[in-house]
Amino acid sequence: MKISILGSTGSIGTQTLSVVDNNKEIEVLGLSGNSNIKLLEQQARKYKPKVVAVADEKNATLLKIALSDTNTSVVGGQGGLCEVSALSEIDTVVTSVVGIAGLVPTLFAIKNGKNIALANKETLVTAGEIVINEAKKQGVGILPVDSEHSAIFQCIGNHRQSEVKKLIITASGGSQYGKTRDMLKAVTVKEALSHPNWDMGKKITVDSATLMNKGFEVIEAKWLYGVEYDDIEVLLHRQSIVHSMVEFCDNSVIAQLSVPDMRLAIHYALCYPNREPSNLPQLDLTQIGSLTFEKPDTDTFNCLSLAIEAGKKGGTMPTVLNGADEVAVSLFLQGRIKFLEIAEIVEKALFEHKNTLNPTIDDIIETDREIRNKILKDW
Ligand code: MG
Repeated sequence: MKISILGSTGSIGTQTLSVVDNNKEIEVLGLSGNSNIKLLEQQARKYKPKVVAVADEKNATLLKIALSDTNTSVVGGQGGLCEVSALSEIDTVVTSVVGIAGLVPTLFAIKNGKNIALANKETLVTAGEIVINEAKKQGVGILPVDSEHSAIFQCIGNHRQSEVKKLIITASGGSQYGKTRDMLKAVTVKEALSHPNWDMGKKITVDSATLMNKGFEVIEAKWLYGVEYDDIEVLLHRQSIVHSMVEFCDNSVIAQLSVPDMRLAIHYALCYPNREPSNLPQLDLTQIGSLTFEKPDTDTFNCLSLAIEAGKKGGTMPTVLNGADEVAVSLFLQGRIKFLEIAEIVEKALFEHKNTLNPTIDDIIETDREIRNKILKDW
């Protein structure tokens, strides 16, 4: 198996490389990053890919000089990302780049017949219909690299879509679980970033605290598995052991369980359709003791409802949801807004947006750009 990794210096990217270290059959031919060129250089020297892409042109030039004694070529800009995602020898592209920057290279990879190990949420949130249709047309697989979607994928197995009644997506509840709106007023960046179970990037950890991440996952699940929004349920499950479940037409429910470790979803996606041995921690249920489930408090954590509403409206609404959230979370991380203002900014952006149904990729990119500029101007 030969792969490229888009976003190899981020959380999922580095965990993918750790999975590669334990699977001798996987060869890395392409890497990409943006700002952490020190780490990109180390990765390039270790894995000896054919090509490394750097989104930032200036950083691309710096990395080119740093790697001039190697056989790895360095390419810059979005064109560079597309080159890495369409290398003729590779079978699969791991799309772990964060943000809407992942959309065009992912679509380019699909058009070039590459399977996608999908970790970039924005791809399906903003352009789910276009991406799924293109994947069907090209006959390529989209293998989810997210614990919930991987779980659903594993539970469905070879069952037909018509046999699936409901998806039950579990959520840890994030760092602010159980708090009232009043308590949320004073949440600091540090508190928002202290996730109980998962080790993830900053953006997604804040999204997990607001439940926006779960909203994105509901939209992604809708497109990945062709189910209606009303047939997707979100349950809070504090232990993060059951990664999601599928209810079938006979009312049988199948769940997938494991310790919370993202490398398992990555390992599964890269080994699919086989199951290969891994050195990941084993699950000891006697140590966990009990598994609990409850309904999320969507009055307090209304980002989940905002996301599902935007998903139902479709068109460019999910793009606004995503773009507004990304800017709001970055303002929160910079200490410029309060925790509860994340949801307020997103709600206002959705309310004011004039929806475009059946958007093209250009419409989506333009909407994303507009919403970001608008919010940044207001703040
Ligand atoms: Mg997840």
